[in-house]
Amino acid sequence: MSRIYNFSAGPSMLPEAVLNKAAEEMLDYQGSGMSVMEMSHRSPVYDKIIKDAEASLRKLMNIPDNYKVLFLQGGATLQFSAVPLNLMKTGKADYIVSGQFSGKAAKEAERYGTVNIVATSKDKTFSYVPVVGKEDFSPDADYVHICYNNTIYGTVYNYVPDTGDIPLVADMSSGILSVPVDVSKYGVIYAGAQKNMAPAGLTVVIIREDLLGNALPQCPGYMDYKTQADNDSMLNTPPCYSIYVAGLVYEWILGLGGLEVMEKMNREKAAILYDYLDNSKLFKPTAEKEFRSLMNVCFVTGDADLDKEFCSAAAKAGFVNLKGHRSVGGMRASIYNAMPIEGVKKLVEFMKDFEEKHI
Ligand SMILES: *Cc1c(COP(=O)(O)O)cnc(C)c1O
Repeated sequence: MSRIYNFSAGPSMLPEAVLNKAAEEMLDYQGSGMSVMEMSHRSPVYDKIIKDAEASLRKLMNIPDNYKVLFLQGGATLQFSAVPLNLMKTGKADYIVSGQFSGKAAKEAERYGTVNIVATSKDKTFSYVPVVGKEDFSPDADYVHICYNNTIYGTVYNYVPDTGDIPLVADMSSGILSVPVDVSKYGVIYAGAQKNMAPAGLTVVIIREDLLGNALPQCPGYMDYKTQADNDSMLNTPPCYSIYVAGLVYEWILGLGGLEVMEKMNREKAAILYDYLDNSKLFKPTAEKEFRSLMNVCFVTGDADLDKEFCSAAAKAGFVNLKGHRSVGGMRASIYNAMPIEGVKKLVEFMKDFEEKHI
């Protein structure tokens, strides 16, 4: 067996320990005689799996008791609609556009009400995150939406916008579990699992209880947060296997020491790559320093052909999926929690070698 260094932005690497445990339990989950893939979601065995996963996530993120945790389907993309369908009580919302996904979220919300773009970093190809304060928001907005970590452009919020009494909603798909977050500062946090938590198919929603029960009349039953909360994410068949793996990932992080330890490891990994990029004569990081993502590291040579040559040489050497998003080009190394530090060190060695040959 040989594992490759996979820098994919998502679906992405899972911790080897988690894959091994899932493999061990694949044919016979803890004496049940069946795989988790094969069992009824209403069985007592599965009930424990989903409850344990939720308990682990609550512990890991220190989620206050007045928040519900939902395990849903449809990806972060369906949340672009679910958020306005649940929260646009008076038909107005504020959005900060810091990249492609937040732009999509705003566009989707426009179907249901008036969207006010409070700030955007489009002027500089989303290489930074707009800094906004309380005075920038519409006093009558039902919520403020941000994308916490911008997967495509490699930027991250280095602050939590102060929205006062307006609920703050964050798409945390590519940043969740990378560092500790103060959940109490948010009304809703949602994340597609395939970046930093589990296989694709699962979306985690963390929502403050007082925001439940305001869904618009046209909101599909499945997407009504209150209905999902009342049914413990079991309104219909949940993404059973992804929830199981997510639970293993949560336990893995808890075993390492939790999110403080995870943050330390992530800072160390990202620093190795950014330090090299800052001093390289061939590669240039594209995100502004103070907004650099710990998870998605974007860089270019400035020559599209050379970028292409680099990506294919890297792939041959065992570093795959380094090509930047199809909309921006260049390179992107996604170094989520599961990427071991050796993977980053070896990538930098390879880049140094490539640089020497091309400068
Ligand atoms: C990947 C990603 C999405 C899209 O997620 P899907 O699960 O494919 O819908 C949305 N937002 C962010 C920040 C992402 O990284």
